[in-house]
Amino acid sequence: MATQAGGERRIFIFDTTLRDGEQSAGVSLSHSEKLELAAQLARLGVDIIEAGFPISSPGDFAAVHAIAGASCGWADNPVICGLSRAISADIDAAWRAVQPARRPRIHTFISTSPVQMQYQLRKGPAEVLEQAVAAVRRAKSYCEDVEFSAMDASRSDTAFLKEVFAAAVEAGATTINIPDTVGYALPDEFGQLVSDIIAALPAAAVPVVVSVHTHDDLGLATANALAAVQAGATQIECTINGIGERAGNTSLEECVMALYTRRALLRTFTGVRSVEIYRTSRLVSALTGFVVPPNKAVVGANAFAHESGIHQDGVLKAPQTFEIMDPTTIGRPDRQLVLGKLSGSHAFRNRLEQLGIRLPEEQVQAAFRQFKELADRKSEITDEDLEAIAGGALVPVQETFTLDYFQISTGNRSVPTATVRLRMADGREAEEAATGDGPVHAMYHAVDRVTGVPVALRDYSLNAATSGKDALGEVSVKVEYKGHVYSGRGVSTDVLEASLRAYIHALNKIMVNGGRAVSGGEQRPAAAAAAGGGAAASTPISGKGNVSDGHAG
Ligand code: MN
Repeated sequence: MATQAGGERRIFIFDTTLRDGEQSAGVSLSHSEKLELAAQLARLGVDIIEAGFPISSPGDFAAVHAIAGASCGWADNPVICGLSRAISADIDAAWRAVQPARRPRIHTFISTSPVQMQYQLRKGPAEVLEQAVAAVRRAKSYCEDVEFSAMDASRSDTAFLKEVFAAAVEAGATTINIPDTVGYALPDEFGQLVSDIIAALPAAAVPVVVSVHTHDDLGLATANALAAVQAGATQIECTINGIGERAGNTSLEECVMALYTRRALLRTFTGVRSVEIYRTSRLVSALTGFVVPPNKAVVGANAFAHESGIHQDGVLKAPQTFEIMDPTTIGRPDRQLVLGKLSGSHAFRNRLEQLGIRLPEEQVQAAFRQFKELADRKSEITDEDLEAIAGGALVPVQETFTLDYFQISTGNRSVPTATVRLRMADGREAEEAATGDGPVHAMYHAVDRVTGVPVALRDYSLNAATSGKDALGEVSVKVEYKGHVYSGRGVSTDVLEASLRAYIHALNKIMVNGGRAVSGGEQRPAAAAAAGGGAAASTPISGKGNVSDGHAG
């Protein structure tokens, strides 16, 4: 087996995403998709690509054959492997399919567990042993590189397994594979099985590679593979994102990163270019349509996301406080701090900086307060949300009126009625109710009653500032007061609240001028509007009807 200075062992990574992974219920890759994925697996640096099961269908045969041919043109030179039952026709088809590869491998298997021998093969152990040997010999007649698997090894009789593997090695198998086909094994037990089998292998001219193939039915696939490595196994069969039959196979990214992260303890290494892991995971997810769960180890959306304020603060001070891996090692774009209700101002400022948003200190404070309010209602604050919030904070204004409370009653057969309570700068509160043509009109009418400031709504627009069900609505208004136009902006997950905040924002700007148009508003209104004085302006909202009619006029 390959070793490095310091006695570290090389662990071969056998990727079966295209065979066991493609066997997942609901996965069916096209010919070109298989080729694309195989090329990416080569860039990832896997040692062996199990490209398919050639006898199983003409399509599978064609894909394995094409991948074998294409592999000769790759800078990296992985072994291209084809699966076959321990049947002559299977082995012949596997050979024809992998033959074009520079480094072809035939992988043949037979069941060795009592239950599968009895019910599936309807054969006794002696017959199975004989068939295994014949299969390995036939494969060896074509190809130097032969792998033999004892299917359901973890539920097989250990003495019989030792006998079968010894015979397979004597017949020429260069790799023997110990599968936990049904995901039944426990780590200690599986490690013991692997070391028992290794101890019983006959001496061979070239050391035999001992492989494991573990399934995740009990969520132990990676734990079992690692236990096997510690017991002396030198090849791990795995898939990207852990896809595969039933609950899936052990996942490549978990095994590779566990070996990498705990190298000092395990004293092993692989040839995988970890920086390609994330890209490969995304590709497999896109091609198969299998969404990677957010909490999936290594490649899930949240795998490097820190939500708790304490964790975020720690990671910002020193990533290793709460991260055992550097996300850039697997090629993730960058660390993502998910801002949520537990995020502190440090994380908030940091994200603004990363987004290139620079605000004066008092505006950061205002934006942070708004962020906290928003976080109470929205589980995740996105970058777009932050930009919307920061955009609002760019025009700070002294708050003469602040929104305390509002309630709307509306419906297609009732008159929209709004109750709004505002807090004044001196702490006083005032509440008014009003009706209107629509809910926004009713709210604005109620605000007018509270403030007594005679304004006319000149423009109203509503946009979704962000995407998704809990998107932020962003409302911009322009109101006219004594011949001058003031703009206001409001952001909220509730479009009615955003509407109200925008209106109050504009009123506060008016009040900054002492409620008098001393030095003019922000901009001159259009001549016609100015000439009209307080004339009613009709403003469409969301392209539907007229909600506002210049009610303040
Ligand atoms: Mn399998």
